[in-house]
Amino acid sequence: MKTLPTAELLTLDRRHVWHPYAAMPHTGPVFPVRSAQGVYLELETGERLVDGMSSWWTCIHGYNHPRLNQAAQEQMGKMSHVMFGGLTHQPAVQLAQRLVQLSPEPLQHVFFCDSGSVAVEVALKMAIQYWHNRGQPQKQHFLTIRHGYHGDTFAAMAVCDPVNGMHHLFRNSLVEQYFAEAPQIPFEGVWQEADIASFAAILEAHHGDIAAAIFEPVVQGAGGMRFYHPTYVRRARELCDRFGVLLILDEIATGFGRTGQRFACEYAGISPDLMCVGKALTGGFMSLAATLATSEISQTFAQGEAGVFMHGPTFMANPLACAVALENLAILDSYDWAGQVNRIEAQLKQELAPCRHLPAVKEVRVLGAIAVVELHQPVDMNTVQPQFVEQGVWLRPFGRLVYTMPPYIIESEPLSRITKAIFAVVSRL
Ligand SMILES: *Cc1c(COP(=O)(O)O)cnc(C)c1O
Repeated sequence: MKTLPTAELLTLDRRHVWHPYAAMPHTGPVFPVRSAQGVYLELETGERLVDGMSSWWTCIHGYNHPRLNQAAQEQMGKMSHVMFGGLTHQPAVQLAQRLVQLSPEPLQHVFFCDSGSVAVEVALKMAIQYWHNRGQPQKQHFLTIRHGYHGDTFAAMAVCDPVNGMHHLFRNSLVEQYFAEAPQIPFEGVWQEADIASFAAILEAHHGDIAAAIFEPVVQGAGGMRFYHPTYVRRARELCDRFGVLLILDEIATGFGRTGQRFACEYAGISPDLMCVGKALTGGFMSLAATLATSEISQTFAQGEAGVFMHGPTFMANPLACAVALENLAILDSYDWAGQVNRIEAQLKQELAPCRHLPAVKEVRVLGAIAVVELHQPVDMNTVQPQFVEQGVWLRPFGRLVYTMPPYIIESEPLSRITKAIFAVVSRL
């Protein structure tokens, strides 16, 4: 591949390339990145930025990791892809075994797919088919909580926050689901039963047509970056059991240590019937996701009307992605990631505390390797983004949220660059 001059690259980008959640052509600045190493992004213009985003929660061990590169190269020498219908291979089987070992014990079976949204679609479809298999085909609806985010495909979008997700735009194409009030008690607050009342009331009234409840345990990500009390998750589990509704936990953002536990549901000491993972699974190397299921669910499929689960992506269990994911999980095993996440948490808490006193700031919250500075007013991304780049960091706020979830391997000095940049930019607002 030839290398285009930067100006031409950006011109062609504006002409042909549609960016995520962007107009065409995009109205804001787009920064051309040439390479990435460790916690740094290197731009075509030569600047080096400390990455505070981990490329949307994925790149937990930094960029260009020699062990991930080597795992990919070794697998490429054998086969980079092969269909998964009727065939199987070492990377998929070993990765499935590892995921089952790492996840809560009742989860025994792994369905691989290519992205988080699809892992959510798969979980929703499994839940519907499960009730069909058990002779209760009327259970086709879902209960979720406000401020959630589960992906951009249709069924996933239908359980995203209706306001953030702009449901009115898609009104006639989206299935209407049940929305409980978002939890209000913060992670470290004092639990009150009233917090789960809305969730309980919906289950009580509508459990007859609800297949499953789905939500993000403890940390709500792209729907608002909210941290809530683990007892909410525990109560939701109890209520689902009482009313005969499955529990799907979306651990796509929280999984693999981000919150300080390997999976956020460990804070609540419960396990779901179905669990979605993605994002950090390959350490940000490439796209891979999975839906894990209990035997209670999987064993019903053989006797069901279809006799099989009706789903099968073309690139299912891509060997390259599975080999890299397996190595990424081996890296996670090879050091004290929890200690590292705790150190990041302590430093973020200490260094972002002064932001509390800035006039633009409503709240500062930190959990694990996630920090959020919530503002009173939405930021103008087009002015704020270049300011962060000037400060030598890569952060991408949205709405009223300036937030960071750096790679776990970040050292104290580059992490301070991020917190200083947040203070500097937010204090100008
Ligand atoms: C990112 C995300 C998804 C969607 O994953 P994609 O890979 O972008 O499709 C779903 N759920 C949660 C909690 C996420 O953070």
